[in-house]
Amino acid sequence: MIINYLISNLASSVVIASSIGLFALTACRPETTESGQPIPDRLDYAITLHGGAGVISRDIDDQVRDGYLTSLEDALTIGRDLLNEGVSSLDAVEAVIRFLEDDKRFNAGKGSVYTSEGQHELDASIMNGHDLNAGAVAGVRTVKNPITLARKVMEESRHVMFAGDGAERFADQMGVERVENSYFSTDRRRQQLNRAREQAALQNEARTDRDPVALNSDKTHPIQVTDPDFYPFGTVGVAALDRDGNLAAGTSTGGMTNKMPGRIGDSPVIAAGTYADNNTCAVSATGHGEKFIRNAVAYQICAIMEFQGASLQDAARTVIHEKLDEGDGGIIAVDYLGNIAMEFSSPGMFRGAADSNGRFEVAIWE
Ligand code: ASP
Repeated sequence: MIINYLISNLASSVVIASSIGLFALTACRPETTESGQPIPDRLDYAITLHGGAGVISRDIDDQVRDGYLTSLEDALTIGRDLLNEGVSSLDAVEAVIRFLEDDKRFNAGKGSVYTSEGQHELDASIMNGHDLNAGAVAGVRTVKNPITLARKVMEESRHVMFAGDGAERFADQMGVERVENSYFSTDRRRQQLNRAREQAALQNEARTDRDPVALNSDKTHPIQVTDPDFYPFGTVGVAALDRDGNLAAGTSTGGMTNKMPGRIGDSPVIAAGTYADNNTCAVSATGHGEKFIRNAVAYQICAIMEFQGASLQDAARTVIHEKLDEGDGGIIAVDYLGNIAMEFSSPGMFRGAADSNGRFEVAIWE
């Protein structure tokens, strides 16, 4: 009798417990929003990348164009395959950026542009959307893959950003590979520096002729470049969503051709060049760094999504076309559902996007 009572009680407890469990599951995963709109499913994974934005002439040699497209496709394949295997978005972001840093076509790692003194100073950052942890390095001269050092800063130090000599000493402590500064040099970037110097000299002459004071009042503005080949495009960036729903973003660059020594752009600045938050999106930017810093571009896109409930696409459009000036550059971003935005206001942006639905595309112009 007592045993019968216990068994029947146990059975009803199981029924009650499973109903609560089912209810809890349903409560955690509503199928509609409060206003009755269906909630779209999240993609298993998604990834987007850029290789810089700027004045990229449509008349470039077919071979040069195909070389860029192949590099973008190879980079995207690495990222897509890693995410497909279940690797984290952070690992995918770092691996793809390392690949692009080693490709001398891009202005990051090997192939970085020159400062006005003929040296290379590299910047990079990475951010984890799961816990808002972030790491960055600025003005490094001998670190072969700055993105890897940025990740070490994030995971192995209690700081967010290291600069110059301290960053390089930290690289030694972490066993991160260092190279001579000349490792980053290429003939093409040297020619770009020479032409940027000539152009700057001409502009300075023109300004001083008109009004000597104008030189100082305009000193924060980048050189207005009319020759497509020495616009400093080529910064690289990646944003990804992994199978666990975690977002990550990273950016790496040599900065701007003919920059003053010590100048740091937006790429290593968390909130300007890079941002990731699992609640909204992951963003990497490219363009005139000073403008991107002043407008906190990467964070602002996430904030518009969070505080105005905007879609990723609308938030990106607002920031790139309304907050910045036309021609300033662009962003690539992925949101928590796997939607991708690749928005730019310059004539071109090297870019790519892939996801678990089979999307796979690379492009340069509109
Ligand atoms: N944003 C980079 C910088 O200002 C340059 C670029 O993206 O081309 O350093």
